[in-house]
This record gives sequence, C-alpha cells and structure tokens, in this order.
Amino acid sequence: MTDTPHTDVLVVGSGIMGAVVARLLRDTDPALCITMVDGGEAIGTAPGVHLHDVDDPVLWERYNEQVTSGIQGMYTGAEVVREVADGLDALTPGMFHALAFGEDAEAMPATALAWNAGGMGVHWTAATPWPAGDEVFDFGDPAGWAADLATAHRMLAVTPAPIGPTKVGELVLDVLRRRYDGTGPHDRRPQPMPMAVTATPSGPLPRTAPGTIFPPIAAGGDPAFTLVTGTLATSLIVSEDDGRIAGARLRRVTDGAESELHADTVVVCADALRTPQLLFASGIRPDALGRHLNEHAFVTGRVLLDLDRFGIALDALPLARVGEFCTDSLWLPRNGAAQPFHGQIMNRTYVDEAGRPLAHNVGLALYVPVESRPENRLVFSESATDLAGLPRIGVEFAYSDADRALLRRALDEVRAIAEEFGPFDPATESALLPPGSSLHVTGTVRSGTADDGTSVCDPDGRVWGFDNLYLAGNGVIPTAMAANVTLTGAVTAVRAARAVAAHRTALTAH
Ligand SMILES: Cc1cc2nc3c(=O)[nH]c(=O)nc-3n(C[C@H](O)[C@H](O)[C@H](O)COP(=O)(O)OP(=O)(O)OC[C@H]3O[C@@H](n4cnc5c(N)ncnc54)[C@H](O)[C@@H]3O)c2cc1C
Repeated sequence: MTDTPHTDVLVVGSGIMGAVVARLLRDTDPALCITMVDGGEAIGTAPGVHLHDVDDPVLWERYNEQVTSGIQGMYTGAEVVREVADGLDALTPGMFHALAFGEDAEAMPATALAWNAGGMGVHWTAATPWPAGDEVFDFGDPAGWAADLATAHRMLAVTPAPIGPTKVGELVLDVLRRRYDGTGPHDRRPQPMPMAVTATPSGPLPRTAPGTIFPPIAAGGDPAFTLVTGTLATSLIVSEDDGRIAGARLRRVTDGAESELHADTVVVCADALRTPQLLFASGIRPDALGRHLNEHAFVTGRVLLDLDRFGIALDALPLARVGEFCTDSLWLPRNGAAQPFHGQIMNRTYVDEAGRPLAHNVGLALYVPVESRPENRLVFSESATDLAGLPRIGVEFAYSDADRALLRRALDEVRAIAEEFGPFDPATESALLPPGSSLHVTGTVRSGTADDGTSVCDPDGRVWGFDNLYLAGNGVIPTAMAANVTLTGAVTAVRAARAVAAHRTALTAH
C-alpha cells in the first residue's frame, strides 16, 4: 500500500484538447476519476472561461483591445518580447512569447505559450475551418476520420456562418468566388468562416472554451473530476517494473512543493511545445520527438474597400454587432495545387466618435503551407532549463526552397486579391510575418501507423512502447496544415479519449 494519491486518468493541460478528452471520457463513464493539472492559474475568477465572455469589464477590455488585429501572434504583443521574467511568480496569467519564457526560440520568434488555466482556449479567435486534401490524416479509414471530425465539430460547437456575410461581405465573397471559380468543389468555395461560437440573435457571440466544452473546468460540480491549477507536471513516472506510466511528479508553482500523483492512464495535452518537453523530461525520447515541427507561414494584408468602385454609400456600410469587432468573418478554403493558400478574411468598418462609418477594411490573412521536414525541429537541453524549470526548448526552423517559392506566390496573391477591392500598396499594407505568428505549431509529437522512427505515437495518440500514455493536440497532427489547426487538433483528442475508454473497458473485462 502507498499513501500516494491516485486517479483513474490524469490529464496534463486544461486547454481545449484537455477539455475535449475529459468531456468525452465523462460521457462514457460518469464515475471515472479524472484529475487535470495545469501549471497556470485562472485569468479572472473561473478557469477556462473565454475572455470574450467574462463579466469583468477590465479583463474584457484588455482582451478586446488585443484581439482586433486578427493576427494571433500580435495578441501576445506587437513587439516580440525577449526579456525573461525573474520567475514564474512574476508572471500574471496570460500569453507569453516562448522567448520570454526562457526558450531558445529565435528561429520562431513570435511563437507563444499560454501560461494560464484554460490555455490558449480562453484567448482564441475560434475560426474552425475544416481540413481537406493533404491536411487529412485518416490512416486509410476515411469513414472513421469523418466520424471523428464530426465529433470534433460537436465538441467545439462549430457554427457554420456566425459573423456575416453582410451585404458588403456578400460583395467580397462574390469577388473571391469569381476569382477562384473552378479551383475546388462547391463546398470549398469562398464562404463565411465556420467558428466555434454560439449563435445568438443579437449582441456578442459566446466563444467555445475549455469551460464550455467540459463545464466542470469552470464551474466544478463533478465529484469525480478535480482540476488542480498552478501545478506543473515536471515528469511522468515510468514504472521500473513493467515500463508503464505510473503517474506524474508535480510541483506547485507558488511554493515549489513537490508531490506525486499515481494514475492508471495519463493523457498529455500540454501544447505542441510542452508536450514533447514533458516527454523529454521523463526520459521518453523517441527519434521523432520534436521533429517535423511545422507552422504554415502567415502573409497579412489589408485594403480599404473602394466604395465608388462597388457603388456603396458610406452610410450603407455594415456595423459590427455589439461585443464583436468585425462585420464579416470569411473563408477562402485551400484547394490543392490550384489554390494552395488558406485565407482568413476579417472585415471591419471604421467609425468616428459618434459611431458613423468612415471606411471599410478588408483584412486578409493568407496561410501558406510549409513542407513537413524532420530537420525543422525542437531540441531539448540536457542541462539548461526554462522559466518553469523544465528542459529548455530550442527551435530549429527554416523554410525550404519550395516553401520560399510558395511564399513569393502568396505575396503576389495577396496583392492581386487586395487590388480587386481597392488601391493597395504592398510595401505598407502587407507583410510576411515572422515564424510563430499564427500559433498553429504542429508535428512535434506526430502520429503514424508504425513505430519506424518518424512518429511518436500511434493513430490514437498512444505513445509507442507504452499502453497507458496518450497524447492529444496539434503536436500529434502529422500533416502540413494550411488551415487554422484547432478543429483538426481536436480530432486527435477525440481519438485519444476513445482509445483510453476502450483500454479501460478491456482492462476491467480481464
Ligand atoms: C489569440 C489567439 C487566437 C487564436 N485563434 C485561433 C483560431 O481562430 N483558430 C484556431 O484554430 N486556433 C487559434 N488559436 C490557437 C488555438 O488557441 C490553439 O490551437 C488551441 O487552443 C491549443 O489547445 P491545447 O489544449 O492543445 O493547448 P493550450 O491551449 O496551450 O493548453 C495547454 C495547457 O497545458 C498547460 N501546460 C503546459 N505544460 C504543462 C506542464 N508541464 N504541466 C502542467 N500544465 C502544463 C498550459 O499551462 C496550458 O494551459 C489561437 C490562439 C491564440 C492565442
């Protein structure tokens, strides 16, 4: 007998992926003992509530100021912050550049980490386009993929067309549909952006967040679920007897108190940078760990709509709903080689102090897929540590010749699209953003069908060589994504949750 506390399933990370895993496990077994640990604390009073939907006006204002650029990386600050804080205690919960967290991330300078309960899921914009073509990893089971993607849609409460199209948004879509006519099937023509929000008749549209996916994260009330915030998993305990995972070593951030938690099964959902970091810290170091690091490149542009060209009167410009910053959230889907870019288009009407329209901005973001290559990778230090005291993460990332050629094409494409809408100066109104800017990092613990050195886990997220250690999240995605990754990442959480439930059923049957 041991006094070490025990749980049936330990989930590391309280972001969207951890929430999907916990929710699906709870749906299968109401009595399953689930413990979730997160190094960060709640922002505001309840963990896992999206900052778009908090009651606190100061927090709400801060979120809305930061989010209006429509560029994920800028949310963490327009300037990349390199200065490392004195200690974790000095950090207010929120998003921080990996550099400011003490990682060696100069090759991906804009990449950032969530240091708060609920992870990035309380900050995200919630665009949830569905993957297609080369992005799909169905491992030869297209029906299974479709079912899991449908579950991911349900978990994230995706609404097909929540923001727009307004009449002006329809004009923008008409231009795009003409331009990209014939490049893809009907369901992947330019259209409103699907988003993980709840449709409401007026006013703000609540965002899907960890606390809505699995409500006990925010509200408690589930006697078999425990969320422990402010507590890092510093390593997984690998049992010497049978090579299984026995649980995790934990460290409370406020006072450094160390403890162990035993678990029958562990699911690591600690994002694409810190999931492989935790495996490395635990001595679990398969060849593919950290390799195939990927992030689509990000070309941004904006153009003021030429109202004369389109015959639109100033006072006919649409206004955003109360609590929203854009009038239209639109999607240009990627369609193979003919249309290799993913477009996220968020349009705004600028108003004067009296709320009268001044101009309409078409905000263009073209995401450019980047080749998945093993030499783009994370390396973990044997000796140096980051702010959390975990192995320092080094980022090795560069574009290939093919990537650079596609990037040049994307810059031309942004210019050509923008000029359809109004006068455009590419030098001042478009830019290739630094790597990391999308926060859509993938591939670092990729899944595969064989333990052949090119993957870390099987299609269910089970780490090769272990029967009770699972991974979920964007790092598990093995394909080069152009679209926003979270819906696709959620498929890996759906698979892991199902596999954990099946494994437990098999164990109890014996
Ligand atoms: C401003 C912004 C806008 C975005 N917009 C979009 C969008 O429109 N569409 C889209 O698809 N994606 C978007 N994203 C990205 C999206 O939010 C992420 O893909 C998603 O939330 C990742 O979820 P996750 O659970 O894997 O990771 P995270 O949300 O990062 O959660 C991981 C959690 O693990 C915890 N953790 C890490 N290591 C440890 C450890 N050792 N011990 C204990 N806890 C640990 C962290 O504290 C964190 O809470 C956006 C992100 C931001 C910040």
